Amino acid sequence: MKCEICGNKVGEIFLKKVLGAYIKDDKGKKHLICSKCQKQNPSKKDQLKNI
Ligand SMILES: [Zn+2]
Repeated sequence: MKCEICGNKVGEIFLKKVLGAYIKDDKGKKHLICSKCQKQNPSKKDQLKNI
């Protein structure tokens, strides 16, 4: 799985936790982003609308 913002690989599951975060866009579609982008882009929702 890849981060949908930076394209870096996001570890799928490590110790039963996803190394990243899922956020939903307006259509309710899930997007995976890494924890790094999650911290660096508080406005990530706006970016994901453009995907
Ligand atoms: Zn990322």
